[in-house]
Amino acid sequence: MKKVVKFGGSSLADAKQFAKVGEIIRSDSSRVYVVPSAPGKRNDNDIKVTDLLYECYELAKDGKNFYEPFLAVKDRYNEIIQGLNLNLSLTESFDEIENKLLNSPEKDYTASRGEYLNGLIMANYLGFEFIDASEVIFFDENGNFDGEKTNSILSPKLEEINNAVIPGFYGLGHDGKIKTFSRGGSDITGSIVASACRAGVYENWTDVSGLLMADPHIVSNPSVIKNITYRELRELSYMGASVMHEDAIFPVKKAGIPINIRNTNSPDDAGTWIVENTARRSKYTITGIAGRKNFCSIMIAKDLMHSQPDFYRKVVQCFEENNIPLEHLPSGIDTMTVIVQESKFIEHEQEVLSRISKIVEPESLEIESGISLIAVVGRSMKSQTGTAAKIFRALADSRINVRMIDQGASELNIIVGVLNEDFERAIRSIYHIFVDVE
Ligand code: ASP
Repeated sequence: MKKVVKFGGSSLADAKQFAKVGEIIRSDSSRVYVVPSAPGKRNDNDIKVTDLLYECYELAKDGKNFYEPFLAVKDRYNEIIQGLNLNLSLTESFDEIENKLLNSPEKDYTASRGEYLNGLIMANYLGFEFIDASEVIFFDENGNFDGEKTNSILSPKLEEINNAVIPGFYGLGHDGKIKTFSRGGSDITGSIVASACRAGVYENWTDVSGLLMADPHIVSNPSVIKNITYRELRELSYMGASVMHEDAIFPVKKAGIPINIRNTNSPDDAGTWIVENTARRSKYTITGIAGRKNFCSIMIAKDLMHSQPDFYRKVVQCFEENNIPLEHLPSGIDTMTVIVQESKFIEHEQEVLSRISKIVEPESLEIESGISLIAVVGRSMKSQTGTAAKIFRALADSRINVRMIDQGASELNIIVGVLNEDFERAIRSIYHIFVDVE
């Protein structure tokens, strides 16, 4: 079974971190393809190499002197090379980047050099072959990742090569120029490589021991989620939980490859397994809790609205016309409530309200802002009674008023709306009742 291993920026921030990565790869011969990020922060005050490169580009495009950030970039790589005692010089590559910055600076090309140079170092350090991502990863004419073309070139290439390093974050655009994914995109490259070689697992190495059940800034020392399905992860990510780039799920999900999130600084921890399906039960009824602040609710009341089959459609249309995505639509017999993100609604507030008044002539229209949504997610909720009761008991015990409730028929999650000021307390109380008490 082949494993594809992707290492994030903090795992490759300096020679000491590189050495840990080397040990991880050498300890398991099935770790055959390596996808590195650019060197990240060595401490809280440090600057990521990718950010330094963006700075170089911003200066260069205006014809300004870019040597301060550029020298900082060179220093970062030279320090790693020296720290690892490698017989490698990047002078030629540095000159090439400098020339390009001076003569025809390109944003994506400049940013991508962080991964490119780190890939050269990694390949030299491990004795693996270096595959330039611009030769195997492609984007189409609309700038989207071109899976078909990529697989047709990357899959046979990997079949020929036993061990390789493929830098993350970039590929070749339809116009023949380097193009990057959005920030954090090395996760996507790892997933693409795993899918192209039909890996048994995609290991994503970072600086935490997996996905946590709740935000550690809100709950102190939350438990690590051992197993989570792709669908659960989507629900939690949408509500703010973050562990890797959202788009990184799709290539491996399609190929049925599990993702294992691991910690470079604590390699013996099992981490989190992200899978399509699992019979494994979580220790707790819920898998995780996540939430976001600043939603608005618009409550529309009109007697007998149910007897007008087009009522909902007309209301939804008012939001659609203004490009405002709907989050939830809890409803009563003569009321309908629309929950939207405040930031997306406020700009078009008056247009939307006047359209609703005109099209459906409601008896009343009430708006409330400052609402937080909290998603309690778990595949095990379906087969358990009393989950919702527990959530509401936790909130009631903490004297938190629930402004909205939504549970889909999938029973994968229960969403509750509370006031922004109750947000953190609500999450702590739900976590406590399921994890500490259960
Ligand atoms: N180096 C890029 C960034 O900082 C991509 C990555 O790390 O995944 O966004």
